[in-house]
Amino acid sequence: MADNGDKGVTLPAFRNEGYLDFATPANQAGMLSALASARMQLGRHYGERSGERLVSTNPARPDEIVGTHAAATRQEACEAVDAAYAAFAAYSRTPAGERVEALIRAAELLRARRLTFNAWLTFEAGKTWAEADAETCEAIDFCEYYAREMARFMSPPPLVQLQGERGEARYIALGVGVIIPPWNFPLAILAGMTVAALVAGNTVVIKPSSETPTIAALFVELLLEAGFPEEAIRLLPGPGSVIGDVLVSHPLTRFVSFTGSRDVGLRINELAATRQPGQRWIKRVVAEMGGKDAIVIDSECDLTAAVEGVAASAFGYSGQKCSACSRAIVHRDVYPAFLEALRARVERIPVGDPADFGNYMGPVISAGAKRGILEYIEIGKREGILISGGSGVSTPGHYVAPTVFANVPAGARIFQEEIFGPVLAVTRAENFEQALAMANDSPYGLTGAVYSNNGDHLELARREFFVGNLYLNRKCTGAMVGAHPFGGFNMSGTDSKAGGPDYLLLFLQAKSIAEKLA
Ligand code: NAP
Repeated sequence: MADNGDKGVTLPAFRNEGYLDFATPANQAGMLSALASARMQLGRHYGERSGERLVSTNPARPDEIVGTHAAATRQEACEAVDAAYAAFAAYSRTPAGERVEALIRAAELLRARRLTFNAWLTFEAGKTWAEADAETCEAIDFCEYYAREMARFMSPPPLVQLQGERGEARYIALGVGVIIPPWNFPLAILAGMTVAALVAGNTVVIKPSSETPTIAALFVELLLEAGFPEEAIRLLPGPGSVIGDVLVSHPLTRFVSFTGSRDVGLRINELAATRQPGQRWIKRVVAEMGGKDAIVIDSECDLTAAVEGVAASAFGYSGQKCSACSRAIVHRDVYPAFLEALRARVERIPVGDPADFGNYMGPVISAGAKRGILEYIEIGKREGILISGGSGVSTPGHYVAPTVFANVPAGARIFQEEIFGPVLAVTRAENFEQALAMANDSPYGLTGAVYSNNGDHLELARREFFVGNLYLNRKCTGAMVGAHPFGGFNMSGTDSKAGGPDYLLLFLQAKSIAEKLA
């Protein structure tokens, strides 16, 4: 049982939320109506603090303000951790069953507001209808899954009982968690990291991405409505470069749950490792970072499926997923056929405003991101042969054409560095073993896929492809909560396996108790 004599909670078995089919007129009408309602609320101001404002804009229409937010100062960041610490003692002692029930209510509210959140994801993060819906479903799944996980940890398995003693283990909360999500899954990743911490009994300070603070504000409103106490959650928008160090190095911060780029993750890890005056614990850092994900295409495989899988993984959400395929490594026997089919497939990708149903690829997140991606495209023109795309799209939104380079050598920068945009490097391998070696030639190790009909080659990939999430004969994006626990090796992070049975332990500590019997 949990720390306070809690009764167990019984919930029906977990099931992933099914995606909406937007081909049906009713769903289309629902989404159009949600977009229209959200559009009426664009430009609202969130937060009560005075001073600097963060302005979030629509990446498809940069003149459109999605929301303005009170940006926290360093002093306010410090005070937020102090306040979350003050609230921890009481919140961590709430019966775990109550926290589980609040989380199930949060899932219900998300389900009820699914199209509304979809619409905000379209406006603030530039997601197409399908990408937005998949993300909202993932957020619902995280709530449902971690609620069940907490219910499981409320009844730990029995220990070996020594004669004359009664032994037990209890899982207890850690303290104040600083939650730092990225913009590319501003609802699902924010929700997953936050609710895992909260349901385990921790208080949180959430520093949302400066690109997507509105979705964070709406999700925190929903958590409060679901019954999580206000004192347990501090939402603190503000530039990471200004308040990040304060939050991470604060002596009362107990853990940091970060998802974002490699360099910021490494900085957080380093800073958290330095003991501050008054600090009583070793801070725990969970850092999920970048990727340079590869799909290997063998000579014996379903080439049509491989082309489809590569196109979807490389260009879904404009390649702005940590799991996006940015390298296709293709056996020489099928290389020309693959390239030709891929070029034809990519040219059919409709690019445009994600609020318009039918566009497959929307904008990239910001003008800065577009600049960075175009710089990599120029590098790519020197390193490989451009076969598709290769430029920005001249509309007011931050659009980049889906871009493919062929004949890219394994040492090339576009083969090695995370670009985080719709840019794919295609490389030819002499044989399957060489293709696998090339795939592993990366400082990252997040996702990877293999298309092959050869059982020995699939087995070799199972053993030797060094990634946290390996997919065989399917795309390398689209991890499902519960089915594909998610997290990467090497510079991709701490392999936390979000959405899996090991995840909640990262937010808990075990206490072992032995009582001598009279
Ligand atoms: P980012 O630039 O590293 O930012 C991530 C978060 O860190 C943002 O909230 C950012 O705030 C904050 N931050 C910036 N500087 C900070 C500092 N010094 N201290 C503390 N926090 C700081 O990453 P991003 O551009 O948002 O996201 C894209 C990256 O995330 C890619 O590398 C992608 O591969 C990775 N990603 C990984 C996973 C995974 O599961 N492995 C999932 C999704 C994304 P500001 O917005 O205010 O700068």
